[in-house]
Amino acid sequence: MDTIDRREFLAAGAVSALAAGPLGAAVTQHPAAQPAVQPAGAGGDAHRGACFVSSANGLRAVDRAMELMAGGTHPLDAIVDGVAIVEDDPHDNSVGFGGLPNEEGVVQLDASVMDGPLHRAGSVGALENIKNPARVALQVMRRTDHVMLVGAGALRFALRLGFKEEDLLTESSRRAWLKWRENLSKDDDWLGDDDRDAIEGKPLGWRAAPIDIESGPSVPGDSGVPHTTGTIHCSGVTGTGHVVACTSTSGLSWKLPGRLGDSPIVGAGMYCDNGIGSAGATGRGEAVIGVCGAFSIVQHMEAGKTPTEACLAVLTRMADRTREKRLLDDRGRPNYNVTMYAVRKDGAYGSAAMWKGSRFAVGTSGPARLEASAWLYEK
Ligand code: ASP
Repeated sequence: MDTIDRREFLAAGAVSALAAGPLGAAVTQHPAAQPAVQPAGAGGDAHRGACFVSSANGLRAVDRAMELMAGGTHPLDAIVDGVAIVEDDPHDNSVGFGGLPNEEGVVQLDASVMDGPLHRAGSVGALENIKNPARVALQVMRRTDHVMLVGAGALRFALRLGFKEEDLLTESSRRAWLKWRENLSKDDDWLGDDDRDAIEGKPLGWRAAPIDIESGPSVPGDSGVPHTTGTIHCSGVTGTGHVVACTSTSGLSWKLPGRLGDSPIVGAGMYCDNGIGSAGATGRGEAVIGVCGAFSIVQHMEAGKTPTEACLAVLTRMADRTREKRLLDDRGRPNYNVTMYAVRKDGAYGSAAMWKGSRFAVGTSGPARLEASAWLYEK
């Protein structure tokens, strides 16, 4: 794949144009939202043909999906099966079994899937005790007239279909939660007086900015306890042009019970259109929801942007729309990370993150590999 070439030049130009052009002109451009134009991404936009991308924790998922599809498995079953490898992994504390729990110590999982040719989606939110929420989301899509089931209803649905209930806390996730409880309250999601002051522009009392994120790893909050974002997203197109998407997560650690992030929201954490392509996101879900992240990426690709350009355009908007002081660093840049992923119908692909350092998994031919995501800002 060629890297710093015309496409990269165009990607960089597109971002600058966005800042100054019709879209940028229509809004108050955040002074810090001028992206550091980098050798834009490593994320390539190059491949033609079957292509699957995922968050960096999805190397095995992509390999599994490609292998299953080669054997004739439906592409959506194939990626859901690939994602299940990560959901089952007790060492990935951002997804499925072993995912870090909410503030009450309960693991609540979110997932969504979408099938391009049918233009149908399925999703579950705040699902407890079932370690493969993406499989349940697939059944919501296939076996109901609905798109989204949450909480107790989602669990009852899963049990009726024969999914087994199990305790999703591992010894290590339980210990992490206990440690967090002991260190309440700077890392919790209740906005206290200090936090409310920060929204108004007074000193920041909120948790430390978790911007070291790649995808999946935990970062210590003020208490030294991991505060995790992290998710698996997988987007793909087959050689025959079948577009699919899937996202699965345990969400933000220590979240308020019942909190849904972007992952189960069709159009935010994932979205696909069989005529255009597929996209998804990992990272701070609240920010992704605010710009209809995955849907917006697909719209940008429809308008002619490459996958990397489309991801960068949405991140630029996200940065501009981040207005609360508690979410900005001392230079007015978002103090959180989001990584976005996209595959176009023709197999072109790309990824970009708010902050330099994210990588993503790519499967075209041969074993899946990690590539660097493009980025808006670097430290
Ligand atoms: N996007 C997920 C959420 O907000 C978390 C993540 O991807 O890190 O729930």
